[in-house]
Amino acid sequence: MGRWSGFNVTLSQVFKKKLTGDYPKHKRPKPERFHGRHVLNRYEDGMEKCIGCELCAGVCPAKCIYVRGSDNPPESPVSPGERYGFVYEINYLRCIHCDLCVEACPTEAITETKLFEFSFSNRNDAIYTKRELLVDDNGRAQRQPWELWLGGEDDHTSAWMRATAPSGQVAFENTVAWSGELGFGVRAPERGQGAAPASGEGAPSRASASAEPDDEEVALG
Ligand code: SF4
Ligand code: SF4
Repeated sequence: MGRWSGFNVTLSQVFKKKLTGDYPKHKRPKPERFHGRHVLNRYEDGMEKCIGCELCAGVCPAKCIYVRGSDNPPESPVSPGERYGFVYEINYLRCIHCDLCVEACPTEAITETKLFEFSFSNRNDAIYTKRELLVDDNGRAQRQPWELWLGGEDDHTSAWMRATAPSGQVAFENTVAWSGELGFGVRAPERGQGAAPASGEGAPSRASASAEPDDEEVALG
């Protein structure tokens, strides 16, 4: 091998398309069903969806949810119905993002964003309370100083809930069985595996119901 032939390897790579990204300054969009940091949702009129039933806490395999329900004050109810989630906490030192809490929730109150870029320097920050989890007046996740949001990570917070709503029953695919969300309204269902392909599309597949991230990156700022 000549003195300069080793550079051929380097030069042959210089003009090829770059496969690696400038993470975390640029992030690739994540699949809509991705299980990230949770949010507590509100109805379109601003009322909270959580009724404090504790089903999410009961089903959580990591025992990281703590909920306490309370009677709605008649003069200023927090949620429709009798009760609301008075205390709601998730300990992210334990959460494994399995989303069983999302599937168990009867009111679609607890769902997940696509954000996993959050870490803590103390245990208190790792325990998210209602103050951090409840969506804001635009239906968006409340950003915390230790979270890296670049935009888009809270666009599809209920995708996993909607994906599992048919409970494996093809007859219920493409059927809206959920309520509207503050800032987003009533979301459309996924096309589903049993749906006929739209004109110009190929046969439906599992991959079609779970969008893969494309190569387009979201830039910081
Ligand atoms: S995602 Fe799983 S581990 Fe995390 S809070 Fe929900 S049920 Fe518990
Ligand atoms: S988030 Fe859902 S399952 Fe959990 S307490 Fe509230 S209403 Fe019940």
